[in-house]
Amino acid sequence: MNATTLSGVIHEDLTSKPIDVTNITVAYQNKKAVENVSVSIEPGKITGIIGPNGAGKSTFLKAIIGLIKTESGEVNVAGQPLDTIRKKIAYVEQRSGIDLTFPIKVDEVVLLGTFPKLGLFRRPKKAQKEKVVECLKQVKMEDFAKRQIGNLSGGQLQRVFIARALAQEADVIFLDEPFVGIDMVSEKVIVDLLKELRDQGKTIVIVHHDLHKTKEYFDNLIILNKTLVADGSVRQTFTTENIQKAYGESMGEIIIKGVQA
Ligand code: ADP
Repeated sequence: MNATTLSGVIHEDLTSKPIDVTNITVAYQNKKAVENVSVSIEPGKITGIIGPNGAGKSTFLKAIIGLIKTESGEVNVAGQPLDTIRKKIAYVEQRSGIDLTFPIKVDEVVLLGTFPKLGLFRRPKKAQKEKVVECLKQVKMEDFAKRQIGNLSGGQLQRVFIARALAQEADVIFLDEPFVGIDMVSEKVIVDLLKELRDQGKTIVIVHHDLHKTKEYFDNLIILNKTLVADGSVRQTFTTENIQKAYGESMGEIIIKGVQA
């Protein structure tokens, strides 16, 4: 797909290019949490970042998006810094990181997603309000539009945050542990929707620690344990050897057996 800039110059749609992550290292108080990780994130696929607790998955995700300081590394799309497509990137953070006492309604959260397009200081018009309803319908949360977010279940809240990403018309969506502590209905709604978005060409990157649905949910994997264990298609990377490298020999065996059962 091509897009025209204001100056009339035609340039390629960068969101259809791989995201090249090179030599990312992040340290907290001089202790490395992620060390020298390089991967290429394929566009139009669902990529899972997996690894045991404390492996640096969240840290790596935040480093890619530029939410935390890195010791080294860069992230590019077709040779351009990721910032070039900033407005096209959505980030759905872990629910545990969100202040649920903040008084805001479901539809207001989703409306926030339209702000990058709307621009600051411009009031939302009919189009934006319609967009909010449409996005809430996509996550099957339209009946909850006027609820305070503090009154939602974990799964409902996750769906609202995904609706916000949809309202942003993001082409690349990063999600940090979206399935932790949510009900089965929400998990299915979210997975089906993410697959639909992937089929429309969007790039989805999900931090995930539970291996049971790995084959079902992801096209590609980035397997981490501080350093990179493997990346590539699920078929190539989801092997006993790689899982043992990431999770430890005994754990790896138990997990793989459990997954294959
Ligand atoms: P994961 O998402 O795989 O569970 P994290 O990226 O959350 O791993 O954490 C990786 C390591 O960095 C862990 O040892 C964790 O304790 C540490 N860590 C994470 N965030 C911070 C922080 N803000 N300050 C200090 N250490 C941190």
